[in-house]
Amino acid sequence: MTSASKARFRIGFVFALIAIALASRSWLLSQPTDKDTPLQPKLSADFDPLLAQVERIRPLHIAKRPNRDGDWLERFPEGGQTFAQYVQSRNQKPLHADFQGIDIQPLGEFDETQLRILDRTSEFMGHFFGVTVKTLPAQPLGEIPETAKRLRHDTPQVLTTWILDDVLKPRHRPDAIATIALVTTDLWPGNLNWVFGQASINDRIGVWSLHRNGDPRLSDEAFRLCLRRTLKTAMHETGHMLGIPHCVAGECCMNGSASREESDRQPLEFCQECQPKIWWTCDADPVQRLQALTEFCDREGLSTEATFFKREWYAIRK
Ligand SMILES: [Zn+2]
Ligand SMILES: [Zn+2]
Repeated sequence: MTSASKARFRIGFVFALIAIALASRSWLLSQPTDKDTPLQPKLSADFDPLLAQVERIRPLHIAKRPNRDGDWLERFPEGGQTFAQYVQSRNQKPLHADFQGIDIQPLGEFDETQLRILDRTSEFMGHFFGVTVKTLPAQPLGEIPETAKRLRHDTPQVLTTWILDDVLKPRHRPDAIATIALVTTDLWPGNLNWVFGQASINDRIGVWSLHRNGDPRLSDEAFRLCLRRTLKTAMHETGHMLGIPHCVAGECCMNGSASREESDRQPLEFCQECQPKIWWTCDADPVQRLQALTEFCDREGLSTEATFFKREWYAIRK
């Protein structure tokens, strides 16, 4: 094994373990509560208008591509979840009946460019989930206990579980859909070398780092790459917090990912099975959502994404 392939394997392993932890908890949430309930539940006629909108975007989405060596699904086969199964997993009750808005909590030091990434991520998340996203005043990480910080290859790292339990949990608004901490420092979860982030689905809190998304200060292109990666992580993990497990239906932001390379290959948008989960559980208007996402990506120079969102927007507003 070359040092490059060893590094890829390590990264993949880290991704895999995080995703297993997340997927197993999500999967529990997605199981039918009644043993006698059919695996493919039938939706009531109330869902007909929503399902008609799904049919308009369906032709634009493609089935999941075959796995490449080391891809997530090759290592960890998963069953996925249809829209109807999601509705059933929530006992027909959307999240917006009990919870409103997403809070973003910046923690620690951010330079001007990183603050722009944070600002864009907050705006995009509001459009993507059709909810109010509030960025809370930045807080210092404060006195980090010795057991929650370390140096790895001269890079300072902070323990994710300390941030989740000791810093974020006390700040979580009980009626928030989710509270998300963004940090610029590298993260480690205790038993692995490093992670991009970690979420607690039951507590609906999560933490993600910009540290491994590339240096956005280097060029306009580097800024867009860092923004695209940050958006993907934020949408994927927030999807988990809505109770959405990994997707196997199509090429989708909710696909599991076993490496940076696999993650970079995946789209930012949710597929035709996962997207209606957002419409329904967040009460997001699909047409307004797609218009706002198109305009955002046009403005930020995310041209591939802008083209796709625009095709969906035109298809759905017919
Ligand atoms: Zn995941
Ligand atoms: Zn999907």
